[in-house]
Amino acid sequence: RKENNDIFVDDLKENEKRHIPNPICTFEEAFKPYPGIMENIVRVGFIKPTPIQSQAWPVVLKGLDLIGIAQTGTGKTLAYLLPGFIHMDLQPVRRDRRDGPGMLVLTPTRELALQIEAECNKYSYKGFKSVCIYGGGDRRAQINMATSGVDIVIATPGRLNDLQMNNHINLRSVTYLVLDEADRMLDMGFEPQIMKIILDIRPDRQTVMTSATWPTGVRRLSKSYLKDPMMVYVGTLDL
Ligand code: ADP
Ligand code: MG
Repeated sequence: RKENNDIFVDDLKENEKRHIPNPICTFEEAFKPYPGIMENIVRVGFIKPTPIQSQAWPVVLKGLDLIGIAQTGTGKTLAYLLPGFIHMDLQPVRRDRRDGPGMLVLTPTRELALQIEAECNKYSYKGFKSVCIYGGGDRRAQINMATSGVDIVIATPGRLNDLQMNNHINLRSVTYLVLDEADRMLDMGFEPQIMKIILDIRPDRQTVMTSATWPTGVRRLSKSYLKDPMMVYVGTLDL
């Protein structure tokens, strides 16, 4: 259990057996039906999915909630981003009839938010429009972008909660929520803002949480905000 780089999938619901999707070994296994996504992967030149991706994609593509635990630099961004694009594409309510974003990614820092937005643009799919909302950035410009037909919002919890409290952004349209680097968001004291943000998001959303570690706070967060999640972890888990 403690061998590094081994992959484990846990079903957090004890005493109840659920089918755990097999890991996929190639990009085609996950994304063959979505040529737009395959083209982007081929263009970037990746050879194979990382361990967290090969476990996470089949789970998230089934529409299940997921906790993905793996160290920094293991490809967690694409683990939730690519299934997120597909989720958005399959939603019956499209951007022209939504009055807010369909996907929300909460992440601890401005640097991470900008990196995730760059990935969003690099793998851009079906013309989905993303916007980055973080503390220290031009608040007025962020409000304008957030209210001009956006699909994906990538935000730090503090500034997003500020815009939300002042009715500058509608989060009721979000159906795919990502809590990225949950352990770091908690370390930075964002739990109250996360709580207020999620109060506005519909309970029948799909939720993905990533973390590098699995401390009590992150477990509490997953219990509060994820529904029967599957848990995928790579490497050591200090239980
Ligand atoms: P994490 O969020 O786990 O810290 P990232 O998602 O930021 O990691 O990914 C780290 C780097 O690995 C990025 O530069 C990303 O483009 C790259 N990467 C992602 N998936 C793959 C893959 N399947 N093969 C090779 N490199 C990848
Ligand atoms: Mg990351």
